[in-house]
Amino acid sequence: MQTIDQINFSGKRALVRVDFNVPFDKSFIITDDTRIKAALPTIKKILEEGGSVVLMSHLGRPLKKLKEDGTIDKEKFSLQHVVEHLSNLLGQPVQFANDCIGAATLVMAHHLLPGEVMLIENTRFHKEEEKGDAVFAATLAKLGDIYVNDAFGTAHRAHASTTIVANSFAAENKCLGYLMAAEVKNAQKVLNTPTKPFTAILGGAKVSDKILIIENLLSIADNIIIGGGMAYTFFKAQGGKIGNSLVEEDKLELAIELIQKAKEKGVNLVLPIDSIIADKFDENANTDIANNDEIPDNWMGLDIGPKAIEAFKTIIASSKTILWNGPMGVFEMEKFQQGTKAVALAIVDATANGAFSLVGGGDSVAAVNKFELAEKVSFVSTGGGAMLEFFEGKTLPGVAALS
Ligand code: AMP
Repeated sequence: MQTIDQINFSGKRALVRVDFNVPFDKSFIITDDTRIKAALPTIKKILEEGGSVVLMSHLGRPLKKLKEDGTIDKEKFSLQHVVEHLSNLLGQPVQFANDCIGAATLVMAHHLLPGEVMLIENTRFHKEEEKGDAVFAATLAKLGDIYVNDAFGTAHRAHASTTIVANSFAAENKCLGYLMAAEVKNAQKVLNTPTKPFTAILGGAKVSDKILIIENLLSIADNIIIGGGMAYTFFKAQGGKIGNSLVEEDKLELAIELIQKAKEKGVNLVLPIDSIIADKFDENANTDIANNDEIPDNWMGLDIGPKAIEAFKTIIASSKTILWNGPMGVFEMEKFQQGTKAVALAIVDATANGAFSLVGGGDSVAAVNKFELAEKVSFVSTGGGAMLEFFEGKTLPGVAALS
């Protein structure tokens, strides 16, 4: 698989799939431009070499959120709202095509001069995008001589612009962009060649979202730490009293199976001993501390407790590879953020002592950003779903299509 460094773009037109699916406020001001900034190195390398760039992306889910009259909300979901900000970041004008396909767009692309950039309209305005339609993909492919994929966040989807379009390019004319290459390299490092001991820390609300990743990691990790709402299903499954804590009743058997499998494989599956419990799901709730098998009726665990924090910190400190996905508690509320913060700080310390740490998945990334620790871990993945699927052991179609 080629990376962008292996291609010389001089005189070439690059069709670059980026992830400009950024959040906006009501006035269409971008509230977080991380994804746009993340694509700049790839765009700049092509321009500096004397290539031109056709950028394509999706934005939101326009076909799932139609207007009342059943038509697409082309104002709300237009990538036009990105143009000015992108232009400021690049320090040059960005042309915009009102449709991602069609004669006018093709002409515009073919008139681009070396060093020029254009952005085409939201690929999801066409139903063919998410269906991975081959004809639609081949039409997109006409916009460039070389296909660059720099959208790791959508690499798990076999959509037209993320995967199928690559079929129209010969192996030497398609490659991973810088962001995508870094994501793949770091994820492979953790999954395929982790320096031991390797500790995976999984949190968040539901076991059901994390079953496949836990099962896959059981063959790779030395320690699997489980925190957050998903931990209580494991305690209930073992006969513990968990009060009103989050539970997935239909996953109790599975929790026992996972504990059993971990034993058989010699993996240290670590559950939090205690919790910060609350009498309601509220920032102003009364709180207490309880062991996770004896949470009183009407109380619920909303963060890992002090004993769990100490136990987790000890394991993290002795790890050489760390993967973190999912918060340890309801970190959005001040009262229940200590566990997530303590784990983040323990990962930062381990990283300073030479461990390789990869943090990924929407909420753990939000957590390291909230605590201003993103710069102090080895790598923060931008791809929530894609990163999860990678660690579930699946082949990502967007990556495979570049081989
Ligand atoms: P996920 O999207 O599955 O990673 O879950 C993230 C969400 O889980 C966050 O919004 C947390 O507030 C929530 N969460 C974490 N721990 C708990 C808990 N003990 N009880 C309820 N929600 C939790």
